[in-house]
Amino acid sequence: MNFDLSEEQNLLIQTTRSFVKNELIQHEELLERTNNLPKELYEEIKKKSCEVGLYACNMPKKHGGGGLNAFDLTLVEKELGHTSLALAEIAWRPQNILMACKDDLVDEYLKPAATGERKDCIAMTEPEAGSDLRGMKTNAVISGDDWIINGTKHFISNAHISDFVVLFAATGKDGKGRNLLSCFLVDLDLPGVEVVKGYDCVSHRGYVNNIIRFNDCKIPAKNILGDRNKGFELMNTWLEATRLTVSATSVARAQRAFDIALDWSANRKQFGKIIGKFQGVSFKLADMAMEIKLADLILMESAWKIDQRTLSSQDAAMAKLFCTEMVGRVSDEAIQICGGMGLMTDIPLERIWRDARIERIWEGTSEIQRHIISRSLLRPLGA
Ligand SMILES: Cc1cc2nc3c(=O)[nH]c(=O)nc-3n(C[C@H](O)[C@H](O)[C@H](O)COP(=O)(O)OP(=O)(O)OC[C@H]3O[C@@H](n4cnc5c(N)ncnc54)[C@H](O)[C@@H]3O)c2cc1C
Repeated sequence: MNFDLSEEQNLLIQTTRSFVKNELIQHEELLERTNNLPKELYEEIKKKSCEVGLYACNMPKKHGGGGLNAFDLTLVEKELGHTSLALAEIAWRPQNILMACKDDLVDEYLKPAATGERKDCIAMTEPEAGSDLRGMKTNAVISGDDWIINGTKHFISNAHISDFVVLFAATGKDGKGRNLLSCFLVDLDLPGVEVVKGYDCVSHRGYVNNIIRFNDCKIPAKNILGDRNKGFELMNTWLEATRLTVSATSVARAQRAFDIALDWSANRKQFGKIIGKFQGVSFKLADMAMEIKLADLILMESAWKIDQRTLSSQDAAMAKLFCTEMVGRVSDEAIQICGGMGLMTDIPLERIWRDARIERIWEGTSEIQRHIISRSLLRPLGA
């Protein structure tokens, strides 16, 4: 086992860190205050992220992307994760499920996504189908050379600035009457597609979620990604890796909260001493540092396993669960250490604490991660 990073990996970290420091962090306050990312700012940062090679750094080189493997991508995510999600996501890493594109879909969707010409979003969740995705009502029916799509998706991140959506819809039933899903690529400017504003969220200000309605929307039969009725399998193949993005973001945010709390502990005086000298505070720091380190280890092991093609759903679930719950605990303790000032908007702790809350919900809730882990423990015993 070798935990050293190569020169190239250290350079990648430095490049991303400088980009975050020089191009993103100064806009955090604007986003928090206005809950809005101005279009001009979006375009300016996108252009810069293309120039430094961060945009689509996860996409294959031969299609115009950066060609990073999962381990190196996770190093990048841990740097981008230091700042507001709405800013970090401008240096967009397209959904890796697009790598399942074949034939015409490569030129029409994968390549333009990798070069930044066309942006993707992903739609699985519906008002009545969140964790239980098989319960979705959105459906696609084949009619001649077309699929006809009907239904409503909600909580869809950044659909308003996307050109197309990776859409999951029901296309049949299995022997037990449960939905079989398929995955489609749907242009968002087609007749029968409506993208409207979603909800205001307490986490990640400036990061927009939308509702997408499909009303007899017609797409070509070839716009199916993977095999018909195998959408659930496709989802599991590609989307486990995205759980690591959330995990990496959580590690980064926890580190930022910790650094603030550490600095505060070393400078704030009460009862004539710096508060870091009180065991009630110093032991918190020790526990926080240990938790961040453990989260980082489980994250990087999972990223490495993706590259070795040995990542199990249990591994991804453990990383997602531990890292996202850890950032909740660490940001909460960081606020405790900073006292009243910890809750003031003058320092970014209250934001990190608010932002941390969503991480235990999206990309599969904590309960669903526990379900995946416990199922993989019990199944071999026939339970
Ligand atoms: C801001 C935001 C952006 C999002 N972006 C996207 C996006 O771009 N695309 C997309 O497709 N989705 C997106 N999501 C959806 C997100 O993935 C879902 O919110 C998440 O999967 C949970 O679904 P739900 O909110 O419907 O909760 P529900 O599934 O209704 O869950 C409610 C509660 O019940 C619990 N529960 C449910 N089933 C079980 C079970 N079997 N065992 C134990 N407990 C259970 C859950 O853990 C949770 O505590 C986004 C969500 C948010 C908030």
